[in-house]
Amino acid sequence: MDILYKVNELIESQLTNWDLAAINFKGLNLVKTRSLILSGGSEVKIQFNPERIRSSAAKVDARSIQERPCFLCEQNRPEQQRGVDFEDYTILVNPFPIFNKHLTIPHKKHTLQLIQPYFKSMLDLAYELPEYTLFYNGPKCGASAPDHFHFQAGNKGFMPIEEDFKSGRFAKLSGLSNDVAIYTWKNYNRGVITLMSSESAAIVSLFNELYDLLVQSQKDEVEPMLNVLSYFEEGEYVVHVFPRILHRPASYFKEGTEQILISPASVDMGGVFITPRQEDYEKLTANDVEEILNQVCLDSQKCEELIQTLIEKSIQK
Ligand SMILES: [Zn+2]
Repeated sequence: MDILYKVNELIESQLTNWDLAAINFKGLNLVKTRSLILSGGSEVKIQFNPERIRSSAAKVDARSIQERPCFLCEQNRPEQQRGVDFEDYTILVNPFPIFNKHLTIPHKKHTLQLIQPYFKSMLDLAYELPEYTLFYNGPKCGASAPDHFHFQAGNKGFMPIEEDFKSGRFAKLSGLSNDVAIYTWKNYNRGVITLMSSESAAIVSLFNELYDLLVQSQKDEVEPMLNVLSYFEEGEYVVHVFPRILHRPASYFKEGTEQILISPASVDMGGVFITPRQEDYEKLTANDVEEILNQVCLDSQKCEELIQTLIEKSIQK
């Protein structure tokens, strides 16, 4: 039986047999959404989702992490939670969803959230789950379990970036390296580097080169700050990399009415901003979103420079 079939069966059975998941997925139908147009012309959605306060306000400092039982380790999972095995991973239903179909995919071992050794698995999962977009949040870029390696996945067709890429409005081909087409984005109010190829090995090797370049500017971090989205479509792997320069924006730490409780992660980068508090949902403006993106993302000019360095390196080989 294929993995996609098993996963869709899992969702169906968990929504029948696990109250917490059933209630929260049902609640998703009542979640409010509105949209904003950023100055570059792209549209972002704002989702008011109170259950996500756990993630947005998660304490991810070393001490808080050490003092709580890890919710991704098998022995600590809720009794009703079931999973589908895939290689070194267990595919689970995320009981605090943003997407109509929302998965959490932890590694079977309790091991640090660091993408490089596992990036190939992300492509393998994207291939096996063609109805889903896989995503990775770095330990300081939205992961609420930075101590336990995991991906997440959500149904395609929800994050605006997928259509924005297809439309060709913002992403421009910057060059080719081996079998990989490299795109950078303009007027998107955040720097994005997109890799596309039918060869997963070619993407893995280019991703590693990009990763090594990013390491040079963030040598003190355990890994360069980033969010990654990956999906498989029409025979091609598509990988959107968002290099990050900051974990949480200044507005997150303000007090009173000046505070905006948005802790940006992959889904926000993909164009859906999650606001767990109603006041933020109501007051958020396009300007606020742009200010947040400016603070936490590498800008598009710097992304373009990185790509040119990558392409020059591959020509020299
Ligand atoms: Zn764990």
